[in-house]
Amino acid sequence: MRIANLGGRPAVITGAGAVDLGDRHDFDTLYERWDDTLAAAAAADPAAAVPFDDAHLGPPSPAPRQVFGIGLNYRAHAEESGQAVPPIPATFTKFPTCLTGPFAQVALPSASVDWEVELVVVIGRHAARVAEADAWAHVAGVTIGQDLSERIVQFTAGAQFSLGKSYPGFGPTGPWLVTPDELDDPDDLALGCAVDGETVQDARTSDMAFSVPQLIAQLSAVVPLLPGDVIFTGTPAGVGFTRNPARALAPGQTLESWIDGIGRMTTRFVAAGA
Ligand code: ZN
Repeated sequence: MRIANLGGRPAVITGAGAVDLGDRHDFDTLYERWDDTLAAAAAADPAAAVPFDDAHLGPPSPAPRQVFGIGLNYRAHAEESGQAVPPIPATFTKFPTCLTGPFAQVALPSASVDWEVELVVVIGRHAARVAEADAWAHVAGVTIGQDLSERIVQFTAGAQFSLGKSYPGFGPTGPWLVTPDELDDPDDLALGCAVDGETVQDARTSDMAFSVPQLIAQLSAVVPLLPGDVIFTGTPAGVGFTRNPARALAPGQTLESWIDGIGRMTTRFVAAGA
């Protein structure tokens, strides 16, 4: 099942287009009533699918109560950052106002904004002290995310990850939510991104130091995870700031991100104030 945010309304995505889920379903309660949502999606009439414009796609979970980010969750990325994989997931937040859709235009506040393609998990069932074996059953679905990062703020005074990663538009997600049952192996997905057509990250989610079940078990041991909550699960190697010379995103550039089995999204960058 693929469920999108189409102009603020939930819709099932089929090969032919989008089927609106109707007035009984909106994003205020979509994840709180996830079983109801799945039933409505399964009952959606494929013949009612209509073509849609990518530009109307919004974030699959537009107003989560909590957004988690995980740092240093791929060994090769930890190595390029000169760090070790920590013994517990390195956790920060992206404040929810940074979320945007999969084909958004994002203003660059400085010349030090970096890319980070990530698998993003959306919670579908209240999760407190969940065992690894039960973790996927608490997930509504997965989508693509970019954990856009302003590196100067991020590394100020030790670390200001939550602030440096929360400028407006710094959380593109989409193009839609894919339920775990759609994926042959939700723990092993190819992911990557390209700047103006040049591939800069190319990896598999099976390379994660803490898998999705391990992240859900470890996070939910401390913080209850709520329906609609979003987890950015960490980025693989190939970010810009660790390169020599360092690289960053520039106005006019396009960032394409993909995860096999989910799809692709494209973010365009403009100068602040443009
Ligand atoms: Zn990240």
